[in-house]
Amino acid sequence: MERVYIGLGSNLTEPAEQLRNAIKAMAQLPDTQLAAVSSFYISDSLLPGQPRYTNAVAALDSALAPLALLDGLQGIELDQGRERHERWGPRTLDLDILIFGERLIDEPRLKVPHYHMQARAFVLYPLAELAPDLQLADGRTLEQLLAACPFEGLERLPASL
Ligand code: ATP
Ligand code: MG
Ligand code: MG
Repeated sequence: MERVYIGLGSNLTEPAEQLRNAIKAMAQLPDTQLAAVSSFYISDSLLPGQPRYTNAVAALDSALAPLALLDGLQGIELDQGRERHERWGPRTLDLDILIFGERLIDEPRLKVPHYHMQARAFVLYPLAELAPDLQLADGRTLEQLLAACPFEGLERLPASL
């Protein structure tokens, strides 16, 4: 089993409900257990003119190979109506692998740690709820990333699941 952190995001069709359904679906993936879920957060979209996002981070313990887990996550995205149009367009569900155990992965379909997590408050702050002392496989600490990424534009919701 390896500890995996997943970033969840939705800004269409009842986003909080999308996240709850995705969490249930991830808990049903083969050889995988749901270990923890952060609070839910509201964030501004990366591109202007979209609805705000609901975000969270989940911790999984999984024996799946990384690409098998990615397949499972993309299946859940499709089950929940994900359509891909323009890059960073609005979506019912986005499930990104942030961290996969101690692994550094650089394959066409999968880059881990997630390439842009250091710039995303909506990833770093929920992740810090679950793993404040996390060190990334490339040596960076979550504490360092948080220090360089203001909480700005983020709102933590009191009740989530
Ligand atoms: P961003 O990657 O900037 O968050 P996005 O999540 O909207 O954008 P998607 O359309 O969900 O992008 O994914 C595009 C491709 O990214 C996927 O088909 C997948 O193969 C690839 N990918 C690379 N690294 C990862 C990762 N760590 N987690 C999920 N997908 C990844
Ligand atoms: Mg994403
Ligand atoms: Mg994605």
